[in-house]
Amino acid sequence: MLILKSAAQIKNQIEKARQLKPLVRPVEPRRYLVRNSEGGMNRVQFLFVNGQRLATCQRPDATPCPANQHGLACVHVAASVGHHIVTMMELRARAVAA
Ligand SMILES: [Zn+2]
Repeated sequence: MLILKSAAQIKNQIEKARQLKPLVRPVEPRRYLVRNSEGGMNRVQFLFVNGQRLATCQRPDATPCPANQHGLACVHVAASVGHHIVTMMELRARAVAA
């Protein structure tokens, strides 16, 4: 599990995601499937717990993504972050409009 503190923290992985452009498929507002280097789909989930933003990444066989397991950003989380921020902004805008 990764604790998201700043954009700088995942900057290198975002750069890598920009180059690799892995397929990102939104499942729910906080859940994404991201294609990994072996062609499978990793599950990325964003959580907001006790004021902390967390991100988890699981491989298709339900084992944790190695980087994520060590509290580091992986390219899958980085690839989903952009989608996640946009989705959260849309949800907030809808809540304000309602
Ligand atoms: Zn990962």
